[in-house]
Amino acid sequence: TETTISERNGLPPLPAVAPSPPPSLPEDKFLVSVEVCLKASSTARTQDVCSAVERMLEKRSMSYIDGPIPVPLDEPFLLENVHRICICDTDEGIKNHRILLFWQVKPLVHVFQLSDEGPCEEVSGDGQLASFNEWILPAKEFDGLWESLIYESGLKQRLLRYAASALLFTEKGVDPFLVSWNRIVLLHGPPGTGKTSLCKALAQKLSIRFNSRYPQCQLIEVNAHSLFSKWFSESGKLVAKLFQKIQEMVEEENNLVFVLIDEVESLAAARKAALSGSEPSDSIRVVNALLTQMDKLKSSPNVIVLTTSNITAAIDIAFVDRADIKAYVGPPTLEARYEILRSCVQELIRSGIVANHQDYDLKLPNFSTLREKLGTADVQEAQTWPLLLYKQLLEAAESCEGLSGRSLRKLPFLAHASLSSPGSCDPTNFLCTMIDTARREHSEL
Ligand code: ADP
Repeated sequence: TETTISERNGLPPLPAVAPSPPPSLPEDKFLVSVEVCLKASSTARTQDVCSAVERMLEKRSMSYIDGPIPVPLDEPFLLENVHRICICDTDEGIKNHRILLFWQVKPLVHVFQLSDEGPCEEVSGDGQLASFNEWILPAKEFDGLWESLIYESGLKQRLLRYAASALLFTEKGVDPFLVSWNRIVLLHGPPGTGKTSLCKALAQKLSIRFNSRYPQCQLIEVNAHSLFSKWFSESGKLVAKLFQKIQEMVEEENNLVFVLIDEVESLAAARKAALSGSEPSDSIRVVNALLTQMDKLKSSPNVIVLTTSNITAAIDIAFVDRADIKAYVGPPTLEARYEILRSCVQELIRSGIVANHQDYDLKLPNFSTLREKLGTADVQEAQTWPLLLYKQLLEAAESCEGLSGRSLRKLPFLAHASLSSPGSCDPTNFLCTMIDTARREHSEL
């Protein structure tokens, strides 16, 4: 009626029946990623494997926790084609003792096959200088890297979600003048904290998660330091060649391209040196060329630039302003140190370098389980095996404060090398030596 229209400032009247709310996820289920790695020999179609895994998951009323699940023996098709099935990211929003029951979950199955081509190295015209490496993703070399990197909770998930949103915004054609975002990530922090590895692992993860949209994926690894080393006169050519190559890859719209630029602080250094006159002014042109090229890449939806820097203070380069997500990657916390050492020692047990206790299958508890065990154990129990052994591992982690993740992963090796009888060694002896080695390394910091 007339009054309705005038009351609503000329807008049409409201419908008599309220529209139904937008559909939400059925029964508010958790989306859980299930990564399915095919055997190298498999020629099965991705879609067939995907459906078979979905059916298999539906049939089994299992609980979902992160980690591999066995391929069931009564599934000959999967047995023939699948190398590994892995549940990922269940730690998101889980309260039920980190376990999700099957009816709470909607599995998202990603099927992939690893490339074993290895890196393809590009050298400059005179054959002296390797300017970049190219990898086909997902690559065999980076398999398991993501899982091996241990940070305080949330860092890896945050990066993954950020990159996923950036790709989605582009995919859906969100207008960049209205909502601005870009696809540049900067990880900064002290050396050896896993920044470069995390970039590679992130690219690998995304190549798996987005493989239905982007069936092909590459990683170009550029060492900024080598681009700006002695050959400034060459640098201009190298940058041009590099970006020409990237541009060609990006033009293919089924390609997802990651560009990893390590040690970006060397760009700032090159610029500074040019300004102070100690380097040829060529270098400033090269840095500017690189930044211009990067800006050009922004218009391509299928490229993500990943950068790292070892400078922990504010890095005042034009480069940094361009990055949307800047994450500080610091030295590992006590929990992360414990988890890193636990994975090392568990690997030495698996390979027989550290002895398994007679008929006891030694499984070192994770940090939170250990905390619980220590909280509930009585005095006597706390002084007996295996709790005593777990406490030693914790002590080793405590004495490593300030060591980088890289140093931690070397520690078990150094400890083994300093053993007097390095046959298959007793776990208690080994951990004692590891604590001594940790203290020594720490005193040399
Ligand atoms: P950065 O780029 O920060 O110098 P790298 O990526 O070269 O560090 O790290 C070298 C290696 O150190 C990694 O491949 C990994 O084995 C180990 N490492 C470093 N940080 C961690 C961590 N937080 N968790 C597990 N391993 C780590």
